[in-house]
Amino acid sequence: MSKVALITHITGQDGSYLAELLLKKGYTVHGIGGNVVPLNTGNAGSNFHDKSSDLHIYTHADISTGTARDLLAIIRPDEVYNLGGAGQLSENSDSADDLFSTGEFSALKVLEAIRILGLETKTRYYHASPSALCGLVNGIAINEMVSLNIYPSWYATGISDFWTIVNYRETFGLYACSGILFNHESPRRSENFVTRKITRSLANITQGLEKCLHLGNLNALRDWGHARDYVKMQWLMLQQDNPEDFVVATGVQYTVRQFVTFAALELGIKLRFTGKGVEEKGIITAIISPVAAALKVGDVIVAVDPRYIRPAEACKVNANPTKARRKLGWAPETSLQDMVIEMVQADLACAKKAARL
Ligand code: GDP
Repeated sequence: MSKVALITHITGQDGSYLAELLLKKGYTVHGIGGNVVPLNTGNAGSNFHDKSSDLHIYTHADISTGTARDLLAIIRPDEVYNLGGAGQLSENSDSADDLFSTGEFSALKVLEAIRILGLETKTRYYHASPSALCGLVNGIAINEMVSLNIYPSWYATGISDFWTIVNYRETFGLYACSGILFNHESPRRSENFVTRKITRSLANITQGLEKCLHLGNLNALRDWGHARDYVKMQWLMLQQDNPEDFVVATGVQYTVRQFVTFAALELGIKLRFTGKGVEEKGIITAIISPVAAALKVGDVIVAVDPRYIRPAEACKVNANPTKARRKLGWAPETSLQDMVIEMVQADLACAKKAARL
């Protein structure tokens, strides 16, 4: 008998990679999502819409009159991956749709449904907790011990979900855990996030579709991994003897400026940054590939726009993923450079297509 999984927000970046992973492992996958098409454009769409008979997707309209409990009663999943719970989202979330914002799939509702339906020993629960739970933390190594204790966060729902999960685990013995995932990107990432904004915009610039990439804080440091690697960790967390929370990250940080530099190089553009603060600009110093032949040395293709500078945020996130490595043997497989190449090439293909139209 194949295992049965339920994934909320299956049409998002993580949901689509996770669905692919589970289908490959022989799971029957049920997913919620669909009203909200991810903001990804062109190439970035998920490719699991292959009419697999092991995949069942419910749009929010399909289940708008039902509850999490109704759905769990029908599906009786072995594993629930709650990727779309209110409060697990980033500052620039693109998925605050009705079902989740009303809390129908909050950790509390889903865990209580598991308990009431008598699925405690059958159903394992994974919850995507935002690294933003850690609040405005600058420069402190965040592991599972300190993640929630160091700063009162504005992410009240996320915090409440996190402690609800601890409570159901300790009080009712449910197999429930939180993954505290730091930034994870891919060609399926929404353009609201800086990595995809960069790869898409630079690809567009080489094809004459845009003139300049406007960004906020170029000095911000982030720990960026590949979403495909991170969903493996989500699965692994539900395969252990005992449920535990894990920080998932690479442990290495880069600045936004470095990400821009790597992405530009992949497009055959060497950049020099001059000026400070809002005056900073990225200027082309060499064209080293025909891809960027339409551009010329001296062109300004990166500029700072104060509109994108956030008034308050963690500009340095120092995540410590040691526990994931030590206990689950997990390590990210994709380097930042390889991820940049994948994202840039996907966006370049899309830009070339758009330029031909
Ligand atoms: P977050 O870590 O979940 O907020 O992911 P983002 O990709 O949105 O932001 C990562 C970092 O990039 C943050 O420190 C932002 O301030 C910084 N950043 C700089 N310019 C931009 C921009 O134009 N858009 C976004 N989204 N972030 C930017």
